[in-house]
Amino acid sequence: MSEHRGALTAEGELYPSPRRALDYLETDPPEPGRAIEIGAGLRWARIPLPMELNHINVWLLAHEDGWMLVDTGLAEDVCREAWHSLELNDLGGRPLRRIFLTHDHPDHMGLARWLHERHGAPVWMSGIGHASTGEYLATSPAALGAVRHGFLNGHGMEIELEALLKASGSEHGKWFGGLPPLAHAPSGGERLVAAGRDWDIIETSGHCRGHLCLYDAQHEVLIAGDQVLPTISPNVSVLANRPDANPLGEFLGSLARLEQCAPNTLVLPSHGRPFRGLQRRIEVLRSHHMEQLANLRAACRERRAAYELLPVMYGRPLRGYHRFLALGETVAHLNYLWHNGDLTRTVDSAGRVHFVAG
Ligand SMILES: [Zn+2]
Repeated sequence: MSEHRGALTAEGELYPSPRRALDYLETDPPEPGRAIEIGAGLRWARIPLPMELNHINVWLLAHEDGWMLVDTGLAEDVCREAWHSLELNDLGGRPLRRIFLTHDHPDHMGLARWLHERHGAPVWMSGIGHASTGEYLATSPAALGAVRHGFLNGHGMEIELEALLKASGSEHGKWFGGLPPLAHAPSGGERLVAAGRDWDIIETSGHCRGHLCLYDAQHEVLIAGDQVLPTISPNVSVLANRPDANPLGEFLGSLARLEQCAPNTLVLPSHGRPFRGLQRRIEVLRSHHMEQLANLRAACRERRAAYELLPVMYGRPLRGYHRFLALGETVAHLNYLWHNGDLTRTVDSAGRVHFVAG
C-alpha cells in the first residue's frame, strides 16, 4: 500500500495519519496472489489493485472441506490473475465454501459474483450493502451524476454536470462485476464458526452502512475490514443519496464499540499490515476527527458553505477526484456538528446549503 503518510489515496485518505507505535505482525506481507499462514486455519492473502491504494488483504479461514473467504478484490484482470495464482498455489486444491463480505465497496466485493460462480460458494454480506449495491448498479451513470451534481453544487462546488460525469467516469460500475446472489444477510450480534473458532459479527457504520467485522474473542483476533486501518483514516463521507445523514456520528459510535475488544487484539485490516494496538489507533482516529470538528466549528462563526471550508479541513489545494471525496468528508463533519446542535444548517430555495454556529 501507499505507506507514505498523508497520501491522497483511492481509499480517500485525506488526513495525515500520524504514526503511533503500533505493534505490527512480524511477518512480511504475502506476495500478490499468494497466501501465508498467520494462525491455525487462518491465511492472509493479498490481491493487487490497479490504483494508488495498490492492494487489498483478504483472509482465508479453513471451513468445511475448503475455505471461508473474507473479501475478494475488484473485478479487474489483475485481481482475477491473483486468484488464479491463489487457487493454484495456496488453496490446497480445496474450494471456497463461503464468501463473506465486510462491505459493499468494489475492492471488497467486486469479484464476489465471479468467485461465487467459480466455486459455488454462497455469499454472505449485510442486507443493506447488498440492496444498495443492487440499486447502484441498476441506476444509470447519468442519473447518479445528476443527484451528485445537485449535492456538490448545493454545497458550493460549482461544476458543470458534463465535467462531473467526465471526472467521475463511468468505470465504477464495472469494478463490481455484477451482483452476487445473497445467501444470508448476517447482522450484528450473530455468530459464525470458521477456522474452528467462534466469530462474533460486529456491525459498524460510517465508512459505509452495514459494514461487518468479525471478532474472535477467545483468540483475540479482529477482522476489521475498512473500519480501522493502521495508516489510513477511513473515508467517512456524506453521499448525495443521503444528504442529511450523520456518518461521522455512526463512525465514532462504531469505534467506541470496537474499543471494547481485548487490548491485545490482533487487528486484521483490509489495507496495510496486521497490528496490535487497536485502542491506540482508535484514539488517533478519534482525535483527528475531533480536531477537524473544532476547526470547522470555529470557521463557522460566519455563515459558510461546505466547499469554502475545504482549506480548513485540508490546508492545501486538492485536485480532481480528491475534491469530491474531500467535500463529502467535510459535509460529514458539518452534518455531525449540525446533528449535535453546534451548527445551524439552512437550505435556500435554490438548494444552497449553509452552516453557521449556534
Ligand atoms: Zn477498502
